[in-house]
Amino acid sequence: MEWIDLRSDTVTQPTKAMKEAMWSAPVGDDVFGEDETVNNLEKTAAKMFGMEAGLFCPSGTMTNQIAIKMHTQPGDEVICDELSHVYQYEGGGIAVNSAASVQLLRGDRGRVTAAQVAEAINNRDDVHKAISSLVVLENTSNRGGGCCYELEDIKAIRQVCDENNLILHLDGARLFNALVAKQQTALDYGQLFHSVSICLSKGLGAPVGSVLLGSAEKIKKARRIRKVFGGGMRQAGIIAAAGLYALEHHVQRLATDHEHAKLIEAALLQCPLVETVLPVETNIIIFRVKEHIPANELVATLKEKGILCFTMGKQQIRFVLHLDVTEAMVHRTVAAIRQL
Ligand SMILES: *Cc1c(COP(=O)(O)O)cnc(C)c1O
Repeated sequence: MEWIDLRSDTVTQPTKAMKEAMWSAPVGDDVFGEDETVNNLEKTAAKMFGMEAGLFCPSGTMTNQIAIKMHTQPGDEVICDELSHVYQYEGGGIAVNSAASVQLLRGDRGRVTAAQVAEAINNRDDVHKAISSLVVLENTSNRGGGCCYELEDIKAIRQVCDENNLILHLDGARLFNALVAKQQTALDYGQLFHSVSICLSKGLGAPVGSVLLGSAEKIKKARRIRKVFGGGMRQAGIIAAAGLYALEHHVQRLATDHEHAKLIEAALLQCPLVETVLPVETNIIIFRVKEHIPANELVATLKEKGILCFTMGKQQIRFVLHLDVTEAMVHRTVAAIRQL
């Protein structure tokens, strides 16, 4: 039986065409700035966002952590939602790498408001308080079930940042899902954030890599931090080529993943074992099972039916759609849910 792997959008296999692009990519030593394909990827991504420069990194954790380090001083405070990846899933990196503290906000499914940010900013003249210097937003929000920000809400947050001398960074691991779902543009985001991290290895289907975008001055600083973190790679064009291919060919198709997610959401809403489903906006589905049903048992039942997924806490399960989940697999998943 062919597995239907809904554990994460990181499990995709590079396509044949993507492998061919990797095979034929011109490469060089990227630490010397001599890898043509890496340079092309960094320029292409920067241009998409209307930003001056980009930096190719091995992971989205690294791009976020470099951003946090370059925007803060030890002892500063980072403001983010309590569900955010930078806080929940980066190994305490904010403390380890940047010696910064964190102020967590309780947003709406991972999304915070300008008023919440304004409220969280410490008084700079109070010596008791850490200096608030950076706000990190996540779009789409993973733990929020793949939900998206409205541009107006981000604009209001940026205004609060400007009024208070704060920097605004975007963890855009799944930003392209938001762009496709909300019909927004990368240029909108390039204008609103001081730095943006995008992942090529999630929904876009590349095997490795993320890009950090920002001003030429910031990215110069980021390049130094990447070296310190051990992220300076040599003939990295071989993987950057996959990222370039993905940016060109795999963005618009994200709409298909979103349609597939809606079909599965509809089946879950009819399922007697399911308590609630977070409203599906993109490629992530997070649902809560009824009180008497342990989520890990349902995960085991689904595995018997050929469907792989993860729990998210005791009562919640997450499904993620991606490039390698075909329409036929979606129909099989819907049929399996109907049998529960
Ligand atoms: C996956 C992800 C990242 C980066 O993860 P890596 O596995 O380090 O590439 C960052 N933020 C969010 C929201 C993510 O889902």
